[in-house]
Amino acid sequence: MTHYSWFSVFAKALGGNKGWDRAWRDPEPKAAYDVIIVGGGGHGLATAYYLAKEHGITNVAVLEKGWLGGGNTGRNTTIIRSNYMIDGNTHFYEKSLKLWEGLSKDLNYNAMVSHRKIYNLFHSPSQMEGFAKRYNIMRSCGIDGEILNREEVMKVLPYLDYSPNARFPVYGAASQPRAGTARHDAVAWGYARGADMRGVDLIQNCEVTGYQRDASGAVVGVQTTRGDIKAKKVGIAVAGHTSQLAEMAGLNLPIESHLLQAFVSEPYKPLIDTVITFGAGHFYISQSDKGGLVFGGDLDGYNSFAQRGNFHLIDHLLPEGKAMVPCLSRLRFQRTWGGIMDMTMDGSPIICKSPVDGLYINGGWCYGGFKATPGSGWCFAHTIANDRPHEFNSKLTLDRFRRGYALDEKGAGPMPGWH
Ligand SMILES: Cc1cc2nc3c(=O)[nH]c(=O)nc-3n(C[C@H](O)[C@H](O)[C@H](O)COP(=O)(O)OP(=O)(O)OC[C@H]3O[C@@H](n4cnc5c(N)ncnc54)[C@H](O)[C@@H]3O)c2cc1C
Repeated sequence: MTHYSWFSVFAKALGGNKGWDRAWRDPEPKAAYDVIIVGGGGHGLATAYYLAKEHGITNVAVLEKGWLGGGNTGRNTTIIRSNYMIDGNTHFYEKSLKLWEGLSKDLNYNAMVSHRKIYNLFHSPSQMEGFAKRYNIMRSCGIDGEILNREEVMKVLPYLDYSPNARFPVYGAASQPRAGTARHDAVAWGYARGADMRGVDLIQNCEVTGYQRDASGAVVGVQTTRGDIKAKKVGIAVAGHTSQLAEMAGLNLPIESHLLQAFVSEPYKPLIDTVITFGAGHFYISQSDKGGLVFGGDLDGYNSFAQRGNFHLIDHLLPEGKAMVPCLSRLRFQRTWGGIMDMTMDGSPIICKSPVDGLYINGGWCYGGFKATPGSGWCFAHTIANDRPHEFNSKLTLDRFRRGYALDEKGAGPMPGWH
């Protein structure tokens, strides 16, 4: 496999860009593997990569019903950050952000990680108190974060609405300097290439339709549209389909599948060189390298497995954007799309062994799982390899819901659609 470097790019360019290796193989499924990961999104691919790299487990297959990265990994707004304050989330997301920092080099694949900062706007003194508490907790855990007053925000984000009649006056902002964005497809492709190079079989167009069980009920393989495959361990990393894959094993998870949309405008000259979230509603925005303004907001508000949204959210979201950045009213927006969110009762994820022997669960990412991709794969691989969680995911268990130990970052209560 070619090592990607400026030299290889130069040398191949001289040869008319012919002779590049395929980034990964297209193998037929084998009869048996040590580990099968269901779901070829970022989390599944990262898990396979770290199983091989960190634990030397290479007899692994990733089974994907469509194409690699075609789920939420390829549909999200690519924001990465670690501004979490609940014990159980804080160090997990910080581990993930640290992995993002060295990811392109580690994978030898440009994941286009850009630490362009995030600004969380607040619009009242009480909102500022809330953010100050969150950012103080982060800082006491060694995570970067700062609070800016209105004048400081005016200097760095001059295009917001600071007029005396602004509907939601900007009071200040909380900012995490190391937060930013990454290129979603490149993350999936980089992990895929890295896993394939270490011997992992990436099998596309292979839907898992059920499990093989032994006499004790343990999962010992999967049934797929390309035949039965045995495995000592099966991990599911299927995001919006987590409840369905768990149900096939008789598990009823505290997860609902909801719809989330994202939007992109026509390409525009550089305007927003950071990530901004609106504090008076649910709206956030950044600008892609191609110039499109990428923005998103809240869930559509009903349970669904559809990967497309409805107009009412567009109607709700665009005024929020315009209230924050008035010049957005001059833009045309180009595309909208949707993904299926695996919303848990407390808004936090699950990475653990399941109550069924041989089956491991990675899910409940809600709408914040892209930033978790490296950390999630790293912790899930550790959990599968050692049959116990790493300290970073030790609180992200399924039984926390039975024990009443919620990790509710938002304080929204036990309603999946509210997180
Ligand atoms: C519009 C939108 C905006 C978002 N914005 C952000 C953001 O800014 N920051 C952030 O951190 N997160 C964001 N997210 C959330 C983030 O995208 C997800 O949490 C994350 O990508 C989940 O990754 P994954 O690998 O678990 O899932 P996916 O990428 O969805 O991968 C799961 C895969 O499993 C496959 N699969 C399902 N069922 C089966 C089966 N039976 N057999 C085989 N394969 C199967 C699917 O085809 C899919 O490819 C956003 C999501 C959306 C939709």
